[in-house]
Amino acid sequence: MKITIDQDKCIASGQCVAAAADVFDQRDEDGIAFLINDDPPEEEADDVRHAAAVCPALAIFVED
Ligand code: SF4
Repeated sequence: MKITIDQDKCIASGQCVAAAADVFDQRDEDGIAFLINDDPPEEEADDVRHAAAVCPALAIFVED
């Protein structure tokens, strides 16, 4: 699984962190999302896909 965040699109809403806190976090200074694990285990794949689906900025891209 390959995950990419387009940080220029991110609007710091935090949905990705709520969906998959082991994979996404937000910068303290501006809330922009970043990856804390860009190759999560398979058991977290559904949460990552959910994060991508609920991102209001469509800033998360997931490839299997
Ligand atoms: S859900 Fe999308 S817009 Fe919100 S913090 Fe995560 S990447 Fe950014």
